[in-house]
Amino acid sequence: MIVAIDGPAGAGKSTVARALAERLGFRYLDTGAMYRALTWLAMRRGLDLGGGEALAELARTEPVTFDKEGRVWIAGTDVTSSIRDTRIDRMVPVVARHTPVREVMRERQRLLGNEGDVVIEGRDIGTVVAPGAEVKVYLVANRNERAKRRMADRPGIGADALATDLRARDEKDAERMQPAEDAQKIDTTDLRVEDVVERIEQLVRARSAA
Ligand code: C5P
Repeated sequence: MIVAIDGPAGAGKSTVARALAERLGFRYLDTGAMYRALTWLAMRRGLDLGGGEALAELARTEPVTFDKEGRVWIAGTDVTSSIRDTRIDRMVPVVARHTPVREVMRERQRLLGNEGDVVIEGRDIGTVVAPGAEVKVYLVANRNERAKRRMADRPGIGADALATDLRARDEKDAERMQPAEDAQKIDTTDLRVEDVVERIEQLVRARSAA
């Protein structure tokens, strides 16, 4: 079974998807981490982030991998923490908007998500990567709450800069952020992580029983 969890930055996707996967004993695939790792490598190699074909070629020759502990690797480097830097936050949508890049990434995401039960989080999972996913969830939260959550993850940056970054990223990602028509929308603004996980778990159980 595939559980697709989509939504904007700070809506709670990673926390919820990880906890859900653990609870259900499903694998967990973070597609945002894949775009982040590619962006990290492109910047490290000084590539032009406006060149979609060259970036797609890089994605093809240096595929992102996840080890058993869930650490993220690209080109022989563990980038798990480096990809959570604010510079990456800002540049990732620039890389992710190229169609050839998305084609390579989506193919790899389908491959990685292909076996057994998996929770996949991203922006376009329920719509494009896995339109046949048995359970589709679209998480949202109001912008203040999302900025507050991001502050906890990015202690080095001020509240105003974070709110501005979030707004800029929302705008750049907007075309890929449409919920699937059959996705269940959950507003996590006032919910605890356990409650969101519980709700999705119920959807999974209902689907398994059907
Ligand atoms: O979810 P996360 O914040 O790690 O995603 C980082 C960025 O990667 C997003 O802002 C978006 O630009 C891109 N992304 C995407 N499609 C996905 C997942 C992430 O374009 N499925």
